[in-house]
Amino acid sequence: MDFNEDVKYIKGVGPNRVILLNKLGIYTLNDLVTYYPRGYEDRSKPKNICECKNGELALIEAIAISKFIDTRISKGRTMQKLAIRDETGQATITWFNQPYLKSRFQIGKKYRFYGKVEFQYGRVSINSPVFDEIENTNNTGKIIPIYPLTFSLTQNILRKIIENGLEKVKQLGGLQETLPEYILKEYKLEEINKANQNIHFPKKFEDFKRARKRLVFEELLSTQLALLQLKNNNLTDKKGIKFDINVKMSDVINTLPFNLTKAQLRVLQEIDENMETEKSMNRLLQGDVGSGKTIVAMISAYKAAKSGYQSAILAPTAILATQHYNNFKNILDKFDIKCELLISGLTKKRKEEILSKLESGEIHILIGTHAMLEENVIFKNLGLVVTDEQHRFGVKQRTKMAEKGQNPDVLVMSATPIPRTLALILYGDLDISVIDELPPNRKTIETFAVSKRLEERINNFIKKQVEEGRQAYIVCPLVEESEEEDSSNDLKAVITLHELYQKEIFPEYKVEYIHGKMKPKEKDEIMTRFKNGEIDILISTTVIEVGVDVPNASIMVIEDAQRFGLAQLHQLRGRVGRGEYKSYCVLKYEGKGQNTKERMKVMCETNDGFVISQKDLELRGSGDFFGTAQHGIPDFKIANLFTDIEVLKLAQEVAVKIVDRDKRLENEENKPLKKLIKDKFTDRIEI
Ligand code: ADP
Ligand code: MG
Repeated sequence: MDFNEDVKYIKGVGPNRVILLNKLGIYTLNDLVTYYPRGYEDRSKPKNICECKNGELALIEAIAISKFIDTRISKGRTMQKLAIRDETGQATITWFNQPYLKSRFQIGKKYRFYGKVEFQYGRVSINSPVFDEIENTNNTGKIIPIYPLTFSLTQNILRKIIENGLEKVKQLGGLQETLPEYILKEYKLEEINKANQNIHFPKKFEDFKRARKRLVFEELLSTQLALLQLKNNNLTDKKGIKFDINVKMSDVINTLPFNLTKAQLRVLQEIDENMETEKSMNRLLQGDVGSGKTIVAMISAYKAAKSGYQSAILAPTAILATQHYNNFKNILDKFDIKCELLISGLTKKRKEEILSKLESGEIHILIGTHAMLEENVIFKNLGLVVTDEQHRFGVKQRTKMAEKGQNPDVLVMSATPIPRTLALILYGDLDISVIDELPPNRKTIETFAVSKRLEERINNFIKKQVEEGRQAYIVCPLVEESEEEDSSNDLKAVITLHELYQKEIFPEYKVEYIHGKMKPKEKDEIMTRFKNGEIDILISTTVIEVGVDVPNASIMVIEDAQRFGLAQLHQLRGRVGRGEYKSYCVLKYEGKGQNTKERMKVMCETNDGFVISQKDLELRGSGDFFGTAQHGIPDFKIANLFTDIEVLKLAQEVAVKIVDRDKRLENEENKPLKKLIKDKFTDRIEI
């Protein structure tokens, strides 16, 4: 039984198609047969010709009543026509440039046609329909799955390949059941092979519903179980830290140059109470871009430091870490709290110095990037771990950091607002605090979506801003999604764009660029110069997506905005509008797709990250929760977190029940579950 066999061995898959399938994430037989449709077309119920409505998709069963007529219409183009009839009326079928279809039709024989109805001179007509002879059901006469596709792979081809894949699975004796018998029984779920067959090729709508129910349940249950396993791993019976109740957060708050918002104060109160109790804190702090999360982390770290504990502040990029470091120092230096910055690329000597001071306890707060996760980074008494922009980190990294202390308090910060009910379930192991208010005097960022053709006007607009003394960001198109921060293609793109802007468009201004592959020192230098106003226009990849704070920057242009997710656009846009100046975001886009237009519209209409992330989910699907997360919400193969919320709740209940009885899933009856989780999450979390 080998379901992991390469998809290239499946009938109908040649070298070219392998590449296309790989693009869809299909590498193995198992990937193939679990590549689920995104929708279905019911081509099983015929309509009478006289009942057809203009513009609808319809299936007609009718007899050919004319000869197949082939005419030339213009240079090299031909048109084919066929008249058909059922008991209720006549219709015309039209094709273009397909004279060879002639041999497929005979007068007096019955066929099935499926396509979009158009009225021509009051007569029912269908252009280029799919069809079958009445005794066949290749393309019609059944419910047809519609798959998400990639370039040049058609529905028909992929459907056929999946059919062959399912056939192969059958020959291999079927997929192994992933859910325990008792669960199938108790929740009335059908067995895996039936579900898998029916999710692709349901005979009736009810078949599909039952299949989907099972697969959704399985997906959500396994996620919930994985989360619970994770929680069990984190949660030992050991006690957490009780921070000093005599250390008052208000001592720092009173020295700040601004008043905290009510929401910030409330959240700090929640954290403070948490820190003072013995139970260790596991808290998610949500707040839209610019809501002021950093200061909350800083004040919490102050509390830890003055209570005699070290803090670790983990940021996803060196730029952000450096910025945090400077902010922390600005405020905490006067309290004799020692902050340090640990990012990769430091000299060996410098690094050793930091590591030894950390181990001796001389450093109170260590701020840095992934570099802090390394084994040789040893704290004397780590009491607080803060992860900024948690969606950029896996759960595993969060855990790894916490393991450097003895049950330290953990605060994860995220700008991806998700509905509270959902958050409670997805982050089952975390308490949640929300900053639901922006600091006063924030100006809304005016956003325009502009077609690429209007480039010149956009450039004039940038010019105007720069002339007024402001600065601009130009964000490079996303070339290829990649695991790394910046792929080498992104690099090329940023350099090309820089040449264009510096040499051709704005020779009179100082244009610079920044990308993730630069040495931390270089990045830092560029950001500092930008902050000091020595650079007018900064071309950047998405490295600036998180956190960067330059109040004088008032305009951001995002190239090829259609390629970015909404949540990401919102994050990027959050880089402007941070000062006293009216700020703008220009989304330069290409393409007329409905989806593109709708997405651009959402961005122009709202500045509310909550609305945007919800829309993003609806329009695009979600990111990946356990691994290289983009949005902070797990990417599900079949479940939909908005419509399947009831199943999600049920799955959570069931998961808790299972784990209550069998903490580590060691009972014989739960073996399939253990395997399921292992297979699915193995390289993401440790179970
Ligand atoms: P985010 O929540 O996106 O991480 P930051 O913590 O970077 O936001 O804060 C954005 C900016 O707002 C920073 O310059 C910060 O100093 C400032 N800020 C934070 N809280 C307040 C406040 N209560 N009033 C005014 N400015 C604030
Ligand atoms: Mg931030």
